[in-house]
Amino acid sequence: MNRATAGTLLAIALMATGARAAFAQSAPDLDPRIVQLVGQVSEDRLASMLRKLETFGTRNTLSAVNTPGRGIGPARQWIFDELQSYSVRLQVSYDTYRIAKQGRITRDVEARNIIAVLPGRSPRRIYVSGHYDTIAVVGGQRGRNSGASQQQPVPIAEPDTTAPGVNDDGSGVALTLELARIFSQSGIEFEATLVFMCHVAEEQGLMGAKLHAQKARTEHIPIDAVLNSDIVGNDRGGNGIIDGASIRVYSEGPEDSTSRELARYVQRWGGRYVPSHRVRLLSRPDRFSRGGDHTAYNLYGFAAVGFRESRENFARQHDARDTFEGVSPAYLAQNARVNAAVASSLALAPPAPVVVNEKGQPTINRAPSGYDAHLQWKASPGASAYRIFWREAWGPDWQHEMLVGNVTEVTLPNTLIDDLVFGVAAVDASGHESVVSPYIAPMSTAVEAGDVKTVSQ
Ligand SMILES: [Zn+2]
Repeated sequence: MNRATAGTLLAIALMATGARAAFAQSAPDLDPRIVQLVGQVSEDRLASMLRKLETFGTRNTLSAVNTPGRGIGPARQWIFDELQSYSVRLQVSYDTYRIAKQGRITRDVEARNIIAVLPGRSPRRIYVSGHYDTIAVVGGQRGRNSGASQQQPVPIAEPDTTAPGVNDDGSGVALTLELARIFSQSGIEFEATLVFMCHVAEEQGLMGAKLHAQKARTEHIPIDAVLNSDIVGNDRGGNGIIDGASIRVYSEGPEDSTSRELARYVQRWGGRYVPSHRVRLLSRPDRFSRGGDHTAYNLYGFAAVGFRESRENFARQHDARDTFEGVSPAYLAQNARVNAAVASSLALAPPAPVVVNEKGQPTINRAPSGYDAHLQWKASPGASAYRIFWREAWGPDWQHEMLVGNVTEVTLPNTLIDDLVFGVAAVDASGHESVVSPYIAPMSTAVEAGDVKTVSQ
């Protein structure tokens, strides 16, 4: 039996049962290695890293580099040494730039991202990230949010002003370091290359992330996914509302952008491995008038999502009050577990299938009857099966799924492709699943469509 026949027979069998929806939500077996990784996240280690990060007083990108124990110099050295201590498998280096005076950068400055690479069998990269720099603004973030200064430039405090940044973004850094430790010591050979990244100069306009993303694009470094955690350590809102059982994930649209597919993946696989923590997806790039490093990757064409704590306390952000007392290591640990589940699932899975032809058109049509859904894709290396997904063409989440064999096409008889969104994910022999590749028509522009010609008078 050839591949096409297998797929067609499966689809016909599906039609014969008349129970298409019955295939949805069949729970896969969880990978015990991933369960173990997730279980190794240590609340105590996270707490001690947060306490250590606090001791540097400030990690402002423009702060002192040569004052013992204070400022960004000793802080980045500590992060570097910590990463390097985890495993010889981890390749730790500074990703260094000279940023010219501009905007919030008040003088030329050397800026260093700290990058730790855990090589996989493939050069495809999965990022786990946060930013290690901090900032203090006059009046803190609450001063900004309360309205008066919203329309005016934010007065930035001097670079050496105390800005401990335990939550913003010590929490994202501690999470990144903890996953670097667990993954690099796991002994697991990952399919994708994992990158544990601590960005710099986020507070001056995502500069460290932009410079790295720009370089990655120029050098054609294949970044498949960026998980960025920024302010993920506190579950007590400044308004008194507490939610320690969920995490927000922001992603840039449109609704089937690569970042949205990544967000759906976070909810699907984070939810399966950490059912005690709810992943709340938000269909917008970020909070109002707030930013994060995932957006820098989006700007250069990479899939990236931003994790944000469930409830923020603005009085403790961008201020000397962003201290250890303002975070919950238990809550941060839950967010780290979600990240561990998602990053390891992604890094063990085959690459997502290609569902477009050489012209960038989606390989979906109405063959053979003219009223069927006929999906084709290119085989993904390492895949032993594929899972197709579909939903009504007005709605955010996949509604149905069906595992098909090791085929590269499938036909769903009498199924209107115009009324549904379809996607396909690659699945390996152990059940590791890729991000879903959706079948979407490329947006046409007036330039491509051709201007309407008018008769000249
Ligand atoms: Zn931040």
